[in-house]
Amino acid sequence: MKCRVCGKEANIRLSAYNTALCADDFLTFFERRVTRAVQKYHLIDQTDSTLVAVSGGKDSLSLWYILNRAGYLSDGIYIDLGIDEYSRVSFEKARLMADRLGRRIYRFSLPALFQKGIGDLSKVMRRAPCSLCGVLKRYLMNKACIDAGYTVLATGHNLDDEASALFGNLLYWKEAYLYKKSISLEGRGDYLAKKIKPFFLCSEREAAAYAILSRIDYVYEECPYSVGAKTLLYKELLNKIEVTSPATKIRFVKGYLERVKEQEARPDPERCARCGYPSYTETCNVCRLVERFGTGEAIRIECFEPAQATATPDISAKADAVV
Ligand code: SF4
Ligand code: ZN
Repeated sequence: MKCRVCGKEANIRLSAYNTALCADDFLTFFERRVTRAVQKYHLIDQTDSTLVAVSGGKDSLSLWYILNRAGYLSDGIYIDLGIDEYSRVSFEKARLMADRLGRRIYRFSLPALFQKGIGDLSKVMRRAPCSLCGVLKRYLMNKACIDAGYTVLATGHNLDDEASALFGNLLYWKEAYLYKKSISLEGRGDYLAKKIKPFFLCSEREAAAYAILSRIDYVYEECPYSVGAKTLLYKELLNKIEVTSPATKIRFVKGYLERVKEQEARPDPERCARCGYPSYTETCNVCRLVERFGTGEAIRIECFEPAQATATPDISAKADAVV
């Protein structure tokens, strides 16, 4: 198997593109796909300042790394869910990347706010950890972005995440969620940041290969609450289909992107009467949670400056020039 670009021995086969690449050309290919998506879908403008939601995993760390290499200088936000060793190691990996990039990282700590991690909090709330986690993360990341003066929040959701979510929503005809996802969701004034997913069309396997080849130190373990999640089953099923019919996932998600464009503009979300952030009810879920279980302290964002500023090679010039 030869690299399609240089003819040397290939390191990775990309069945969805019917091609194979060596390590160097794969890195260039992957970076170019991400920077092209940023340009094509107008994800980040010259005037934007970007915050990347960082979990310590391969996707978010690779995304943070690529954006900075491409000249989209961005900082990170980490939500500490209070899952013992897993959260400790995840933040350690996130800080390592912050130091490598010479960028700032912010942290919101659930245990500091509630004196409980996501596990205990979900028990007292009688709610599934992942559903509660989704509510808190959406709120806290948006708040961090707005409070610290960033205009764009970037997340590392990849093609497999989007395909499995779409598959699940179709399977159960959850129409209310069906058109809520996209590669980019516009922000609103001073209370809702623009959200972007530059890896929307990049597979999980490609992101993992990129992280390994770029020597990104990420947390390999999955969050313990992901065990048994339906999305994992959907990913497995879609991967089986992909083996016999390469490029199915990308066609599925691209087809969705085309259709989502045809949907009407979303109405402005209502605002919470207490905190002013988006809410479907008069008082948002997080304000109610803080009132019931909070320590009385205000929601606090910690800021960590990088230990050292290391030069990150700039790929913005070559991104357009390769393959
Ligand atoms: Fe949150 Fe669930 Fe994901 Fe863990 S698996 S990070 S609890 S959504
Ligand atoms: Zn609120």
